[in-house]
Amino acid sequence: NGFVELGLAPELVQAVADLGYTKPTSVQMQAIPLAMSSGGDQAFVDLMVSSQTGSGKTAAFLLPVLHTLINQKADEEAELNAEFDRQCAEAAANGQPLPKRNRRKDPTNPRNFKAAVPGALILCPTRELAQQVAHDAIELVKHCRGIRVANVVGGMPYQLQIAKLQNANLVVATPGRLLDLQRSMQIKLDKVQFLVVDEADRMLDLGFSDDLAEVNQMTSQRKQTMMFSATFAPRVQQLAMRVMHDNGSGVK
Ligand code: AMP
Repeated sequence: NGFVELGLAPELVQAVADLGYTKPTSVQMQAIPLAMSSGGDQAFVDLMVSSQTGSGKTAAFLLPVLHTLINQKADEEAELNAEFDRQCAEAAANGQPLPKRNRRKDPTNPRNFKAAVPGALILCPTRELAQQVAHDAIELVKHCRGIRVANVVGGMPYQLQIAKLQNANLVVATPGRLLDLQRSMQIKLDKVQFLVVDEADRMLDLGFSDDLAEVNQMTSQRKQTMMFSATFAPRVQQLAMRVMHDNGSGVK
């Protein structure tokens, strides 16, 4: 399985095997290692990828983003476990009762409401595309514990959307509804470390340029940005200049 050689987390290798993918497509072979490589004092390099629908572009951005989210989650859990073990050892040494692990609060109880704080954001020009990408992401995380995917698009009942958004690590959104939720403080974007703009040329056709710039401003300044587009017309390149740090590595 050519996905093992890309160095992806075993949970993801299993998921692509379940989907029947035997080897990475050309865009996946090129984009995944670059997206996972680090660059200079910035954590990850920005990418600009020319890709058509049907090329496997969705997995080309979802896999590296999910890979890093999985590893970060594992590191966080290891830290929490180490801290819990330390507290237990200390209590035992002092003859005190052992501490209890924090139980997760019921997210459907309005008293437990917290704004969603995703680590990764995928922006799509249309509701249909966002739903397709979210669907693919859910397939890819099916063997991952604790990685949650939420879909934020217009037309879905607001309350349902907010409930699904809680605890989401990866959010797939259209720009309009995302900004609505941000303005009403249902979602905070400052912890977004991975920003993907899918079908950037269609984003511009649909007039989302200012919305993209606004979202970009709100996300972490140290994030990795990946732009996927069928064409690299000058206006797409101008958008890239607005939202990227190093103007991309020019993957074709
Ligand atoms: P996309 O270009 O992302 O719309 O993907 C087009 C189709 O290719 C989707 O149905 C994917 O499930 C499928 N696909 C993606 N990557 C692979 C792969 N490595 N091998 C076989 N099929 C794939």
